Amino acid sequence: MDNYYDYRLIGNFGHVIASVIFGSLNIMAFKLTDSVKNIIHPSVQKRYLQLLDKVGIKTLEDLINYYPVRYEDYSLISPISNLQPGEKVTVIGKVTSFSHKFTKKRGFTIQQAELDDGTGKLKINWFNQLFLKNIISPGINLSVAGTVEWQGKFLVMQNPEYEILKVPAFGYEGRDLIDTIHTGRLVPVYPETKGLTSKWLRGKIFSLLEIPIEEWLPSQITIAESLLDLKTALREIHFPSSPDLLAKARDRLEFDEIFKFQANGLIRRKQLEEKTARVIPIDKKKIDELISSLPFKLTPGQITAIDQILNDLNQTHPMNRLLQGDVGSGKTIVAAVAAFSAIKAGLQVAFMVPTQVLADQHAETLTKLLMPFGIKVALLTGAVSNSVFSIQYSVLNKPNLIIGTQALIHNRADKLIDRKRLSLVIIDEQHRFGVEQRGKLVNGEPAPHVLSMTATPIPRTVALTLYSDLDVSTLTDMPKGRIPVKTWVIPETKRLSAYRWISDQVKQGSQVFIICPFVEDSALETLKSVRAVTTEFERLKVFFPGLRLSLVHGRMKPKEKTQILSDMKAGKIDILVATPVVEVGIDIPGAKIIVIEGAERFGLAQLHQLRGRVGRNDSQSYCLLFSTDNLANSRLNILERTGKGLELAEMDLKMRGPGSVWTTLQHGWPEFKIADISDYKKVNKIRQIAQEIINNLDKYPKVKVLINSMLEKQMALN
Ligand code: ADP
Ligand code: MG
Repeated sequence: MDNYYDYRLIGNFGHVIASVIFGSLNIMAFKLTDSVKNIIHPSVQKRYLQLLDKVGIKTLEDLINYYPVRYEDYSLISPISNLQPGEKVTVIGKVTSFSHKFTKKRGFTIQQAELDDGTGKLKINWFNQLFLKNIISPGINLSVAGTVEWQGKFLVMQNPEYEILKVPAFGYEGRDLIDTIHTGRLVPVYPETKGLTSKWLRGKIFSLLEIPIEEWLPSQITIAESLLDLKTALREIHFPSSPDLLAKARDRLEFDEIFKFQANGLIRRKQLEEKTARVIPIDKKKIDELISSLPFKLTPGQITAIDQILNDLNQTHPMNRLLQGDVGSGKTIVAAVAAFSAIKAGLQVAFMVPTQVLADQHAETLTKLLMPFGIKVALLTGAVSNSVFSIQYSVLNKPNLIIGTQALIHNRADKLIDRKRLSLVIIDEQHRFGVEQRGKLVNGEPAPHVLSMTATPIPRTVALTLYSDLDVSTLTDMPKGRIPVKTWVIPETKRLSAYRWISDQVKQGSQVFIICPFVEDSALETLKSVRAVTTEFERLKVFFPGLRLSLVHGRMKPKEKTQILSDMKAGKIDILVATPVVEVGIDIPGAKIIVIEGAERFGLAQLHQLRGRVGRNDSQSYCLLFSTDNLANSRLNILERTGKGLELAEMDLKMRGPGSVWTTLQHGWPEFKIADISDYKKVNKIRQIAQEIINNLDKYPKVKVLINSMLEKQMALN
């Protein structure tokens, strides 16, 4: 054992120390759940634990599941006499000389060595690797990997990867004797984090691969799906013996990742099915009364969604349904019918929305709609003062419907919410809430039914993965009479004429949104992006003299924001400059034009959502897209032709990968290390396998253990 680690782990100074420690440690004695601390020398532990923590590595298991981002192909081992300049190779030989030089440039040193493999000589230069003088000296067997080049008359390698071999591997013919980790193979390269080098990680992970790893997947599945066993897959993902085996390793680990995620969702679904909820009878007559009081006819999609929801509410276990539909597709009325049905059964309903403005808007709409039916609606947001609150409380005494922001999960809410009667919780723009926030509102026995809503179109495969514990209803059709938003991608050369056109439109009574992108690629609004939008605002004032411009961004006080948005709604503002964070769901009927700057930074689905802020009434609206990247225009042009959010989201997934979907979902997006979930067939197949196993969990004790430990971890997090 000692010998084993000795010759592999020597590499740089850190490894010399590591090898000593490892020499006396028996990796077989560790469990995957042990801390990484165990395999780091005490003298450098503090620093490394910090670095590892930054990339989420705490246990040996985390470390072994930290996969390479790519591989350097150093598998060609060549005799020196055959070397070609420009070639990426590994050379193995004996060091014949080593020197260490200071250069004229201060603080800059060169380490030079010469390598002989019996067929020729190779010069090697390293830069600023002072410690090499402690470990490299004539007589040592060395393996180096890099690109060779001519320098004068000599072949050289600059800054190669290297490792010292203790076996007598003189000459390339010795290659069969060695089992290298930094050279002579496909070499793993890990995500860059300052101070945490691939070299260090390689050494640690290589040694860790000796740890006992238990296969949990039943063998009939590994056989049927032709999957590698777990231990082989882990070894091959880090140190592939061939590209083929690497691909197989990825398949296996991807399977595990998707399986665990699906199993988790399916178990949650099962748990929910075992809970009891209040059965809400379907009173068709009353519901028809409400529906016929509407000034419009429901779309077929709305009718189907309402049927599905009423049917769910009529069950003995809680509903967990997601209603998805583009902005303006009419989700609110569907939610209102569900609420109405519960309230008419003598129960209470809570309706949580992410922002103050939306809460106000919903309270207004729903009060108008439901008051005539004797339903008491209360509003609870942070902005509702204590005195207004106590008036509501005394006048309304046990309201039937409480609409509010996160305030609904804070103390005051307990006066309005009657846990004994609360039977339906509606969550609008559900992805803007974290699991904990939802959990606080959705608890109790019997459990309330839950209806989540989102305007973020979620591709089928993503929904299958992300919402494996949810049923989904989708509104695919828009209410009649909606005119699609006319969309143009505007080249920079036409900017001024576009501004002129906008001015004219404003004079004819249109209102305009101008959306400036985030400075940073993040859904969070930073000070920097606020500064950028402020600068843009000043610039625009010059272009639109005489018009009423205003600015709104996420860093403003809620009160200020609300004021500006209600001014916009009242037509007191012509052009509103805003960041994308500002309320998606807001309804401003006079806004007919939306300009989006830096459009190339957004996904198609995101742009589609943004343009949904205009076009809410029956006159023509426009969306003008500017981009600073001409290459992006052909992608943006798709928006000129397509008006369906879901189609656009599917395209994003294909063109920009899953990341494009994640950015629109601010909460609850699981991080996949390796799984590509854009392959619907694959995800669905694994889901079926997971379902099959979960239905017969007692037959699979190892899976049961795995799932139980997964659930325990989650409990600990909640
Ligand atoms: P979202 O799905 O974005 O939440 P809303 O529920 O706010 O959409 O509906 C947008 C607008 O469309 C509202 O003014 C609403 O009254 C109206 N609306 C909803 N359903 C219909 C329909 N079937 N026909 C016509 N207008 C409708
Ligand atoms: Mg809405």
